[in-house]
Amino acid sequence: MKGNRTLTIIKPDAVQNGNTGNIIQKITDAGFKIIAMKYSHLSTSQAGKFYAVHSERPFYQELVHFMTSGPVVPMILEKENAVESFRNLIGATNPANAAEGTIRKAYATSVERNAVHGSDSDENAAIEGSFFFSTLEQF
Ligand code: ADP
Ligand code: MG
Repeated sequence: MKGNRTLTIIKPDAVQNGNTGNIIQKITDAGFKIIAMKYSHLSTSQAGKFYAVHSERPFYQELVHFMTSGPVVPMILEKENAVESFRNLIGATNPANAAEGTIRKAYATSVERNAVHGSDSDENAAIEGSFFFSTLEQF
């Protein structure tokens, strides 16, 4: 059975560009319920851990630098088949390939500065959810 939660982050580019409200509106219009949300500024060590899976990729250091360049808005979202449904809503990693109507098509400015994160599996959604939110903050 598919899980019903995913983890997103509104990334520093989108927060800086004033798109936080527009992105939250798109998310709730698409039927996602916000279970947890905060405004936070990642340290280098936190961003490095969050993206540890990419540590061997050539863009890793730049990515960590970008993700610590300003505040972010992590959220736990709930909807049926949340992971896949949210990946469809945000569109392809590279906005040049993102479909019309997706969040990245609307707000991403490059493959790196692509406005939002979305978990890629139920397992990672759970890991990433606990990365940002303690069980006390969740309900
Ligand atoms: P996604 O966020 O769509 O799951 P990945 O997990 O492959 O994409 O990559 C994580 C993040 O790393 C991307 O969202 C983007 O910010 C950055 N990134 C991915 N590929 C590149 C690249 N070729 N150059 C620069 N940054 C990249
Ligand atoms: Mg990914």
